[in-house]
Amino acid sequence: MSYLLQVGLETHLELKTKSKIFCSCENSFSSLPNTHCCPVCLGHPGTLPTLNGEAVRLAVMAGLALNCKIQKNSIMDRKNYFYPDLPKAYQISQFDVPLCRDGFLTLSSGKIIRIERIHIEEDAGKLIHKDGKVYIDYNRVGVPLIEIVTHPDIESVDEAREYVQKLQRLMRYLGISDCKMQEGSMRCDVNVSVRKEPTEPLGTRTEIKNMNSVSYMTRAIEYEYKRQSELLEKGGRVKRETLRFIESDGSTQPMRSKENADDYRFLPEPDLLSLTLTHDEIEAIKAKIPELPDEKIKRYTECFGLSPEDSENLIKYPAVANYFEKAAQIFGRPKMLSNFICGQIFAFLKTEEEKESFDIPVTPENLCELLSLLEQKKISNALAKETLGKMLQSGKSCGAFLSEEDFSVLDENTLKSFCREALEENQKALADYKDGKEKALKAILGAVMKKSKGKAQAEKALKIIKEIIG
Ligand code: ZN
Ligand code: MN
Repeated sequence: MSYLLQVGLETHLELKTKSKIFCSCENSFSSLPNTHCCPVCLGHPGTLPTLNGEAVRLAVMAGLALNCKIQKNSIMDRKNYFYPDLPKAYQISQFDVPLCRDGFLTLSSGKIIRIERIHIEEDAGKLIHKDGKVYIDYNRVGVPLIEIVTHPDIESVDEAREYVQKLQRLMRYLGISDCKMQEGSMRCDVNVSVRKEPTEPLGTRTEIKNMNSVSYMTRAIEYEYKRQSELLEKGGRVKRETLRFIESDGSTQPMRSKENADDYRFLPEPDLLSLTLTHDEIEAIKAKIPELPDEKIKRYTECFGLSPEDSENLIKYPAVANYFEKAAQIFGRPKMLSNFICGQIFAFLKTEEEKESFDIPVTPENLCELLSLLEQKKISNALAKETLGKMLQSGKSCGAFLSEEDFSVLDENTLKSFCREALEENQKALADYKDGKEKALKAILGAVMKKSKGKAQAEKALKIIKEIIG
């Protein structure tokens, strides 16, 4: 008997503010350990927190983009626990009256993942385990976080992956967080339970803490699903506990049995007033929200006539979308632009980071200059690709690589003689083609391209080759 999977995600995002949430220490990721600390974030007696307004604005922006109700009054609370990464011995968070409530994120299938709440809180320090010792870096203490909590609406590993990726993309568009899982600016806690029938109450859930990559997260969910199903099948019971994912073998291990809210002794933070927002303040934040990814995809398919897949590729990173839109304003062939950006240029950029920053030496103007030569059929597709490759390497415009003689399209007779030569030199491919292997023509076409130094137009050459073969 197979079980139904039910997953809820709690995602912590570090907000990109200049300073920390309750003091003026710099909020930066890569600094020498313990260089951005002060008596406030280190929790010295007698210090008082001051709430960073920018952190609140970014959190509200996230809430609005996730269709939440923004609460005009919310409360900051103390969550008490004792651990070396938390010098105050409590974290300032929000408990029963969070900043945002009742939102949702829509998956590509149209399915809605309900967001229960978004609250703001401060990050804890970082423990570094090395050579049998534990080191503490307090630079991260007091970095502003939002925690986005879903209902357990996610029912497969694919949905979990898509949720995280869409959330990541959305937050990057808002510019409120880097969302880098490997650097810890985005971390997911995953609640997993299983049950037999959708009509049954939810099963007992386990929580896997601090997933720092999407692939670990999906592996952890798969492992927990299997473990819980097998346990129930044998007549056992799932224990409510907090687990750690073991990267080496893909298993989960208990960290501690789950605390109740009671164990944290939440109490309203006496050193801060309740957090109030006016209607006008919320409207002002709303006005700053840029065009969001789903709206962009809609516009790209409707206005530019691109396929949903091409649109997804282009909008994945804001820098790529900006580049494409600049180019599309100059050159009215969006499909051709999209092909060259997602093809040649993406191939040139090796890592996701490079694609994200999209710091290429070819300006939109230079790309359009090249592609308009292709559009006017002055150069072939192959030559355009080759030239773009050189432009990407050198940062020079296409004029540096193309001369007047490249623009002269091959005359028909020269092209025919190239085709004849190519056929003679590729008897094996010719035989294969005659045997019904359509693909064999590619080798012959390739030879024509080589002979013409990329100047032959592929379609025309193919036509001639077929005519010669008869
Ligand atoms: Zn500080
Ligand atoms: Mn939290």
